[in-house]
Amino acid sequence: MPVPTEPKMFLNDRIVDYADCTIHAFASVVKYGAGVFEGLRGYWNEDRREHYVFRLREHVDRLRFGMKAMRYADIPSVEALERSVLEVARANSIRANAHYRMIAFLDGDDELTATGPTGLVVGAVVRPPSPRLETGIGMMVSSYPRIADSALPPRVKCTANYVNNRHAVLEAKAGGYDDALMLTAAGKLSEATGACSFLIRKGKVVTPDVGSDILESITRETVIELARDKLGLEVEERQVDRSELMAADEMFCCGSGWEVLPVTSVSKQPIGDGKPGKITRAIQKAYFDVTYGRIADHPEWRTPVWQGA
Ligand code: PMP
Repeated sequence: MPVPTEPKMFLNDRIVDYADCTIHAFASVVKYGAGVFEGLRGYWNEDRREHYVFRLREHVDRLRFGMKAMRYADIPSVEALERSVLEVARANSIRANAHYRMIAFLDGDDELTATGPTGLVVGAVVRPPSPRLETGIGMMVSSYPRIADSALPPRVKCTANYVNNRHAVLEAKAGGYDDALMLTAAGKLSEATGACSFLIRKGKVVTPDVGSDILESITRETVIELARDKLGLEVEERQVDRSELMAADEMFCCGSGWEVLPVTSVSKQPIGDGKPGKITRAIQKAYFDVTYGRIADHPEWRTPVWQGA
């Protein structure tokens, strides 16, 4: 199903209509998958009539890191990249929850060694909260191992990396699951196809460490901070065995797009009692309190779109 992208997009340096947001079919990014991207969310706070882009600076910083890792010759400034997202929100009069995608790509028709010119595209999709946040999802353990840092670093949010994730999610859907968890080449838990993974074991929050071939997720960092500081929970970042999935009392995945999403079964085995868990619910609440700006904490994580526009 096509994504209902909003009519105004940002291409390179300006707002354009959706139909005009095009590049050449032989652009280097098409030939070699040499793009880096971000998925961000903005949250509508009805009381304040404000739309907050969540952790904009961190997403822009990671996009710039991705461009550096991919040896892009020209990396747009933090200010230019932040502005591109805010301009898309304003051009589309976004007064609802939305998901933003920004892609930095290699334009031009060049060879494998291309390092420029740098292109930039940003678009928005208005998205209400998913019913899956309430029900949770059933996952499988993918037969596809997660790509290794030594070959195609998952830390770099490169478009080509997502062929690995695509294999895993399509296999899962073909098998009647909602999505998939991937293991490292050594058989340890890595991450989901678009989110990081967390277990709750005996009241402790456990998540694969950044050496487990994961994306260094902004939501993962947010959840760890909220779990420790807001909820007073103990958090362990370490290698996680596959069999701990069977031992877990609760489980959830998290990402900007997935938000804090309960997992109720893995490989058809229920997690805990097969319902979203209490601690998961508490973390979910803490997360949405801060993303919507229902509480005053962490104003630096919320960039208002309408104030001062
Ligand atoms: N892992 C993968 C593979 C992802 O695609 C994403 C989504 N960007 C995440 C984790 C979560 O990252 P973040 O919290 O920064 O959105």
